[in-house]
Amino acid sequence: LFITFEGPDGAGKTTQIGRLAADLEKRHIPYVLTHEPGGTEIGDKIRTIILNPENLRLTQKTEILLYAASRSQHVEEKIKPALAQGKIVLCDRFIDASIAYQGYGLGQPVEMIQSINRFASEGLTPDRTYMIDIAPEAGRSRLRERSGGPETGVTEAAGDLDRIEQRELDYHRRVREGFLTLSRENKQRICLINGEDSADAVFDHILKDFHYFLAG
Ligand code: C5P
Ligand code: MG
Repeated sequence: LFITFEGPDGAGKTTQIGRLAADLEKRHIPYVLTHEPGGTEIGDKIRTIILNPENLRLTQKTEILLYAASRSQHVEEKIKPALAQGKIVLCDRFIDASIAYQGYGLGQPVEMIQSINRFASEGLTPDRTYMIDIAPEAGRSRLRERSGGPETGVTEAAGDLDRIEQRELDYHRRVREGFLTLSRENKQRICLINGEDSADAVFDHILKDFHYFLAG
């Protein structure tokens, strides 16, 4: 089973995916917890290039391709082997993020991003996606308080905003609309959750859905 978590920055994905992992751990269900961009040694190097705010010359197409490159490494080296061993893979962000951030956010063609990512991920699609929604204003104020998730690299100290997070609020509004559009277009796969509720309420929602989904 391949489960992804998506949503705008500051929605609480990292907290929630950690809680779900703890639930699986408790039940002795084999799983792998991972994240994008990164999740592999090569992917983590790509992540530092993408997120470093000093990389002002990085073009939009390069950004799309670097996310896809990190993803390709991740799918082949880590995700597919874990799935083949029958493990549940919990992944913090996947292709939906590329469609929302680079497609809706930057205005790059969504079909092209989809086809690049189909190639990169060998057609792998999540079985279930938890999309945690939050308004960009609220998300941003949470980022300032964060103590650090699976972040790597010198530019990602607690409270600092990475190259993407630093983009203007209007960009993040388009990204959020992108995520909401994706959730409307993929109702079967995507479970939409209000990230402005308390962390406990959000987790309750996720856990109920997850066990319902597991039971088939
Ligand atoms: O999930 P996390 O916050 O660690 O992601 C790192 C950064 O990459 C975030 O600022 C996120 O907005 C950005 N991102 C992006 N496009 C993607 C995936 C993530 O701009 N396809
Ligand atoms: Mg972030």
